[in-house]
Amino acid sequence: MGPKRGSSSKSKDNNKVQIVADNDQDSLAMVPSADQEQTVKAPIVISYNDRIRPLLDVVDRLRNLMVMKEGIQLPTIVVVGDQSSGKSSVLESLAGINLPRGQGICTRVPLVMRLQNHPSDSDPEFYLEFNGKIVQTDEDHIANAIVLATDEIAGQGKGISNNPLTLIVKKNGVPDLTMVDLPGITRVPVHGQPENIYEQIRDIIVEYIKPEESIILNVLSASVDFSTCESIRMSRQVDKTGDRTLAVVTKSDKAPEGLLEKVTADDVNIGLGYICVRNRIGDESYDEARLEEARLFENHPLLSQIDKSIVGIPVLAQKLVHIQATIIARCLPETVRKISDKLNHNVTELNKLPRALSSTAEALTAFMQIMGAAKESLRKILLRGEFDEYPDDIIMHCTARLAEKLNNFNDELQKSSQNYSTKESEGYSSYAS
Ligand code: GDP
Ligand code: MG
Repeated sequence: MGPKRGSSSKSKDNNKVQIVADNDQDSLAMVPSADQEQTVKAPIVISYNDRIRPLLDVVDRLRNLMVMKEGIQLPTIVVVGDQSSGKSSVLESLAGINLPRGQGICTRVPLVMRLQNHPSDSDPEFYLEFNGKIVQTDEDHIANAIVLATDEIAGQGKGISNNPLTLIVKKNGVPDLTMVDLPGITRVPVHGQPENIYEQIRDIIVEYIKPEESIILNVLSASVDFSTCESIRMSRQVDKTGDRTLAVVTKSDKAPEGLLEKVTADDVNIGLGYICVRNRIGDESYDEARLEEARLFENHPLLSQIDKSIVGIPVLAQKLVHIQATIIARCLPETVRKISDKLNHNVTELNKLPRALSSTAEALTAFMQIMGAAKESLRKILLRGEFDEYPDDIIMHCTARLAEKLNNFNDELQKSSQNYSTKESEGYSSYAS
C-alpha cells in the first residue's frame, strides 16, 4: 500500500522538511527524495539507508557515552504529548512491538528507543540498557521487561525519574530511528504521586525539547482541540516558529469529523506538518493494524479526503527517517567541534596533574602540593567568597556566595553587637546618673 501523492497536496506542510534539507547539500545527497522512495517499496522497509546508518550509530554511541551530561546536545527526535494521547502507541506502531500502554501514567522514565533494521535472515534482538547494565528480552516480554526496569529506576509507585532507559530493537522491516518517549503531561496528581508531579514532568520534557538540536514529535489525539493541548503550549514555548515540530494525530478512527479542517487550518503553527494515523486497537496484530489503517483512510467518507501524503504510519516512518538524516547532517559538525573543545579543556586539566611517580618522596611532595592547592581553593571559596577558579560551576558560585554572605553577616553581627554594647553602657550610665 504505497502512499500516493494526492491531488489536493497541502504543500505548505508537506514540503517543509524538504526545504530544511534543501539548505544542506550533504543531507540531501544522503536521502532519497520522497517521491523516489514512495514509488519503490513499502516505506518502512525502504527507509533503511546504508549511508544514514553509520551516522546514526555514531550519535547513539555518543548518547551512550552520556555526552549530554557534559552539556553537549545531540540531534534527537523527542516524543511529547498529553497523557493518553497515544505516544506509546505511535512508537509501538513504528517498531511493531508491544510497549506498556493504557490509561494513567505508564511511561515514568525517558525511554530511548533505538530501532535498527536487521537482515531478514537473522533473528530479531531486543534488549534494555539502564543503570549500567544490559537485560536481554524477547518480543513477547518487552512490555514486562520495561515495567520491571522502570520500577528499578523510578521506584514501584507512580513517581517518575529523569534517569533514562534505552530499548534496542533489531528487527527486520523497522525504520532506522532513535526516538525518546517521555512521560505524558498530567495536571492533577493521582493517588501515590508527588504533589509537584506536573512540575517534575514539565522539567524533564523541557530539558529534552529545549535544545535546538531536538525535533519535537507532538502526539495529539484527534478528539481534542489542539489549541488546548498542554504539549502544544510547551513545545511552542521552546520552538516559537514551529520549525522543529511535527504533529502526529492519533485516534483518527475515533474522531474523523473535522479532522481534515483541523490539519489544514494549522491553528497551532506546526512547521513540519501533520501526519494522521490510526494505531493498533485491541488484539490486532501489527500487520492487521496497518491494513485497517490503510482501509480507513482509503474508504472513510471524511478521512479519505485527507491527502495520502499525510496519513499512515508508513508515511510517518519515512518522514521521520528523512528528518533524522537532515538534523544529524546539520548538527554533527558542531557536535564534533564541541566535543573537541571539551576534550582539549580536559586534557589541559589532566596535564596540570602530576605525572607518574616513582618514589615515596616524589609521591609525598605531589600529595603535599595537591593538599596545598586544595586548601587554597577552599580558603578562596569558603573564606573569601571568590569563585574565579570555577567560572562555569554554579554550585561553587553558590558556596562562595554563601561564604560571602556569612562573612557580611558576621561583620554586621559584630557591628550591631558593638552598637548594642555601646548603647547598653550608655543606657546604663544614663540610668545610673
Ligand atoms: P500515552 O499515554 O500517550 O503513551 O498513550 P497510549 O499509547 O498508552 O494510548 C492511550 C490509549 O489510547 C490506549 O488505550 C490506546 O489503545 C488508545 N489509542 C492510541 N492510539 C489509538 C488510535 O489510533 N485509535 C484508537 N481507537 N485508540 C488508540
Ligand atoms: Mg506512554
